[in-house]
Amino acid sequence: MAHNVSESLDDAEKTCISCSACLHRCSHEAISFVSTDAGFSRIVIDESKCTNCGDCTKVCPQLNRPKEETAPKCYAGLEDNRDNVFHALSKWIVENGSYVSGALADKDLKIRYHATNDLQSALQMTFSPCFFSEMDGIFVDIESLLESGSKVLFIGRPCHVQAIKNYIGENANLYTADILCDGQPSPSICSNYLREVSGNNTISTLECNSEDKSSTLNIVFSDGSKKESNKDPYVRAYKKHLAIDGACQSCNYSDHPRTGDITIGRCKVHIESDSENREVIIVNSEKGMHLLNGIIDSGYRIEECPMPSTADVPGMRKERPLHPGSKRMKDMLGRGHPVSKAADYCLGRKYDVGITGFWRVVNYGGVLTYYALYNIILDMGLEPLMIESRKESANQPLPPNPKLYKAGYPDYSIAPWYHSKEEEEELNSRVKNFVVGSDQVWNRKFISQNSIECYALDFVHEDRNKVSISSSFGTDKFEGNESEKESFARLLRRFNHVSVREESAVEICKELGVEASVIIDPVMICDMKHYEELAEKSNMVVPELYVFNYMMHPGIFTGMEAVYKALGYGPITISNAGVNVNERIPYPRTNIGSVENWLKCIMNSSFVLTDSFHGTVFSILLKKPFVTLIGSWGNESGVDRMITLLKWLGLEDRMYRTPHDALKSGVLNRNIDYESIHQILNERRKASMNWIRNALETDRFSNPEGASPRTNQTRLSIIHLIESLRLESRISQTPS
Ligand code: SF4
Ligand code: SF4
Ligand code: SF4
Repeated sequence: MAHNVSESLDDAEKTCISCSACLHRCSHEAISFVSTDAGFSRIVIDESKCTNCGDCTKVCPQLNRPKEETAPKCYAGLEDNRDNVFHALSKWIVENGSYVSGALADKDLKIRYHATNDLQSALQMTFSPCFFSEMDGIFVDIESLLESGSKVLFIGRPCHVQAIKNYIGENANLYTADILCDGQPSPSICSNYLREVSGNNTISTLECNSEDKSSTLNIVFSDGSKKESNKDPYVRAYKKHLAIDGACQSCNYSDHPRTGDITIGRCKVHIESDSENREVIIVNSEKGMHLLNGIIDSGYRIEECPMPSTADVPGMRKERPLHPGSKRMKDMLGRGHPVSKAADYCLGRKYDVGITGFWRVVNYGGVLTYYALYNIILDMGLEPLMIESRKESANQPLPPNPKLYKAGYPDYSIAPWYHSKEEEEELNSRVKNFVVGSDQVWNRKFISQNSIECYALDFVHEDRNKVSISSSFGTDKFEGNESEKESFARLLRRFNHVSVREESAVEICKELGVEASVIIDPVMICDMKHYEELAEKSNMVVPELYVFNYMMHPGIFTGMEAVYKALGYGPITISNAGVNVNERIPYPRTNIGSVENWLKCIMNSSFVLTDSFHGTVFSILLKKPFVTLIGSWGNESGVDRMITLLKWLGLEDRMYRTPHDALKSGVLNRNIDYESIHQILNERRKASMNWIRNALETDRFSNPEGASPRTNQTRLSIIHLIESLRLESRISQTPS
């Protein structure tokens, strides 16, 4: 008896294969199952019911795996056999009055082990390792069949065979066959996928071929209809180990001695005439030889062959590393994507929307702009990918500051940092829509022409959807020289949908030959829950009452102490993200680092004092009393966008040149009618969201693999045709 059974089963739990042998063995009902995120079952012991008898540990295949010496022999089934080896075995067993136990799909589309002596049911069983098979009641069923004197052949994964053997103990009437198993898939993914492909139909038979280059799935439904899929996404995901059980990543059962009396599967074997993928039967015991002789007598033809090397056969390998896309697979399923899309996207590294712009900027507002856009796209049920401008660009991205810019982007949502446009073009085969936005991505004053061309999607092919979301020139004209302007205009005219942030940008676009719409900044469209989620990640301790003093231009404004004094509480003062807090200015600043801390600071503040556009925007979004300081700057500083915003929302009375002016005005005691302001905001939010939805949900671009070369060719031919017609007309107008 285990001294403390919880400790022993805790060890097993780390490699648990959800067999439920322990649960069925416990006579005190002390064990139950809970589901992991991937849908695997893991045991929980109710200590108040457990007597520490240790019965559960004795049946656990991950704690008890006796290894008997065997002298296995390998045979290859010949291609002209009438039945596959499973059917040959099932027929022979049933025709001899015995039971065969394998997996069948139930009405609820779960696959469970059953035992039957009915040939039709036996021939409907699946023995493919691609599907998760619940063991559930099979322990008790086999036990009672054996007690009644029947012979039973159990066919299943090697670890399941061991669970049955541990549970039943020595029994001359129990025969076992283990299959070549390349891992146990997630039960929830398995049943969700079957639901996706079956609709409301009941499955009659289920066959899958995952060997070598095949990834086929064949289903016959009870109404006689069929689904046959060659490159099946679920089977491809299984083969690539996108979602297999933790225990399978380092399997205790892959090598010899195998647990079954015979081992069955398909793999490449050498026989005298050839070396092909075929059925293999490895005989591990006398009982195994008895089974083999039985099917040979029934007409199944074999040829002895050398034992395949464990390294060559996926079902015999010990190590099975998880596919790098497995985290994304889990997340995509959690976001409600169908298994087929999740598998296809994770294996092919596909995305619905590539977002380019300066999302790695060291600026809280900039970081949150892209965080907002990213989450808007996610909330639309689309999969975003963040794309940085290129290394070769003169405006090299700032040194990575993951604490700041990561803002919750998982690694799989960040594209490689490409060196050149040619390298970046690789994305066209994986991404359906490309988006540039937002903020001053087209401001030639501080962005190199190379980066601007990247932000004008120069690397995106004709057949991809190109969208600008609330982009801005930062000023009221395109700042580049004539040739830069011409090159930018040419790129902009390739866009399918253009929206900008300011009215002035509509005029610039018109001059460049493009119609643009105005939509609001993504930070104002994004659902507030995303900001709350981010702020919750902050460990920063903040006082109960404070002024959040967020200054982009530290040292310009003086007299803020008078504001604090009038409000009755002190400040948390910070500058923009990358600013050196030791720089000499008249007041101390806190280096809060991450954007999570920034959000927490503004979210919990009692009052906001800021000279920043995004400081102002977030004060409004979070319904904070605030004052925006605009100094005596002109439009080149970006002050125009603050004035526009505050005027639009009727909040001009929150804007002052100095703290002193603000104090004098009595603004500190004036309330803001946020209810009506948010009504205005909501209307614009809805309209902007509709614009984005319309721009991105375009069937024309539904194939992430890209349009066929033929489509490209057709488009090019049309362009050539137009060009030549123009040329012809010019020639005809030329005086002779
Ligand atoms: S030790 Fe005995 S009582 Fe406790 S969980 Fe295991 S089988 Fe049940
Ligand atoms: S007996 Fe099976 S279900 Fe129980 S802990 Fe062991 S592997 Fe897990
Ligand atoms: S890979 Fe190993 S541990 Fe995983 S299901 Fe197959 S036999 Fe069991």
